[in-house]
Amino acid sequence: MINLEPTNKMNQVKGSMNGMAKGILRPIARKYDEQEHEAPKELDMFRSIKIMNRSKKKKEGEEKKADAPSGGGKKLGSNLAMVISIEEMCWGDLGLVLSLPNAGLGNAAIVAVATDEQFERFGSKWASMAITEPGSGSDSGSITATAKLDGNEWVLNGEKIFVTCADRCDIAVIWATVDKKAGKSGIKSFIVEKGTPGFSLDKLEHKLGIRASDTGTYVLQDCRIPKENILGSAEVKQTTEGFKGVMKTFDNTRPLVASMALGVSRAAIEFTKEKIEESGITLDYNANPNNCSSLEKEFYLMEANNEAMRLLTWRAAWMMDNGEFNNTEASMAKAKSGRYGTLICQKCCELLGPLGISCENLTEKWMRDVKICDIFEGTGQVQHLIVARNVLELSSKQLK
Ligand SMILES: Cc1cc2nc3c(=O)[nH]c(=O)nc-3n(C[C@H](O)[C@H](O)[C@H](O)COP(=O)(O)OP(=O)(O)OC[C@H]3O[C@@H](n4cnc5c(N)ncnc54)[C@H](O)[C@@H]3O)c2cc1C
Repeated sequence: MINLEPTNKMNQVKGSMNGMAKGILRPIARKYDEQEHEAPKELDMFRSIKIMNRSKKKKEGEEKKADAPSGGGKKLGSNLAMVISIEEMCWGDLGLVLSLPNAGLGNAAIVAVATDEQFERFGSKWASMAITEPGSGSDSGSITATAKLDGNEWVLNGEKIFVTCADRCDIAVIWATVDKKAGKSGIKSFIVEKGTPGFSLDKLEHKLGIRASDTGTYVLQDCRIPKENILGSAEVKQTTEGFKGVMKTFDNTRPLVASMALGVSRAAIEFTKEKIEESGITLDYNANPNNCSSLEKEFYLMEANNEAMRLLTWRAAWMMDNGEFNNTEASMAKAKSGRYGTLICQKCCELLGPLGISCENLTEKWMRDVKICDIFEGTGQVQHLIVARNVLELSSKQLK
C-alpha cells in the first residue's frame, strides 16, 4: 500500500532546504532576474557538493532503518526526498535552482547510464543535456545531429538550441544519430567536454522567466571526442529499446520538474494568502462553499490544485523509490503541475490587483518563471499524449 508520510529524516532535509531557500535564494532572486546572464557567485559554494549521486549499496537491514516509514510498508527513498527538497528550494527561486552547480539534466543522465569508468571521470562535473534542435523539439526521435566513428574518435556535427546551463556547465551530454536510416534506434548520447575543438557556444537566450538560468545554443563542427565518450552501447539494434532506455531518464526527471512548479506556485499562494488576510478577510475552511466570496472560492481552488499537484508528484517519486515503472504517473504529475502551476501564479497576480504586477514583490516574477515547467522536458500536450497512449495501450505510431 502506498504511504506518503515523510520520515523524520525527510522532514529534517525539508527544513534545511527551506532554510537555504529563505536565507540564500530568496534574497538574490530579483537581482539575478534583472542581471540576466550573470553567473550567481553566491552559488559557487555548492560546487563541491555532488547533488546527484549514485546510491551506494546498503548493508542488509540498514535501508529499512533509514528509509522505511514508521509502521513498516514500502520504501520512502531518495526520489521522494528529492522532490520534497526541490519544492522547498524552488519556493526560494526556480531560476537559481536551475543554476545550482552539478545538478544539470546531463548529470541525471550520467547518474542513470554512465559506466563506472565514465562516472569516475565525469560524475563530479556539471553537465548540460542537449537534445533540442531547430527542427526537432517535442519529437526528440527526429534529431539530425550526427556522430560518425573515425578510428578511435567520434566526429560530431549539428546544432543544439535551448540548452539549460549551456555556458556554466563543464561538459555537455549531446544527443546525435549514428545512423539516420535506423531512426530512433540510431540515437545515442555523447559526452563532450568544454574547450573541445569544434564545440562552441553560439549564443545565450534572453528569456521571459528563469532569467537567472543560462540557456544557450551549441554548434558542433567536426568536433572530435574519444570513442569511449559514448554513453551506453554504440550498437544499433533493430528495436527501439536503446532509445526507450534514454527516454527513461525523463521518468526520473519529470517528477522533479513537477515539484519545481509546486514550489513556485506554493510561494505565490502563501504570499497571496498573507495579503488577503492583511486586508481583513478571514479564510474560513469550515464555511459552506455557497456562502464564500468569489475571492475565497478561487483561493480554496488554488490550494486544492496545489495539493493535487503534490500528491501526483509524490506518487511518481514513491514509485521510483519502489522500483515501479512510473512512465504514466511521471507524465501525469508533470502535466498537472506544469499547467496548474502556471494557472495558479496567474490567478495570484489577478487576485492581488496592482500588487500582482508590481516588481516590489516576486509574484509577477513567479508568473513568468513557472511557465517553463509546462515546456521543458516535454510540453503539457506531450505529457497528455504519453498518458493517453499508456491508458489506451496505443503506440506512438498509432496515437501522434
Ligand atoms: C528555458 C528553456 C530551457 C530548455 N532547456 C533544454 C535543455 O536543457 N535541453 C534540451 O534539449 N532542450 C531544452 N529546452 C527545449 C524544450 O525541451 C523544448 O522547447 C520542448 O521540448 C518543446 O519543443 P519545441 O520548442 O521545439 O516545440 P514544438 O515541438 O515545436 O511544439 C510546439 C507546440 O506544439 C505542441 N505539440 C508538439 N507536438 C504535439 C503533438 N504531437 N500533439 C499535440 N501538441 C503537440 C507542443 O506542446 C507546443 O505547444 C529548453 C527550452 C526552454 C524554453
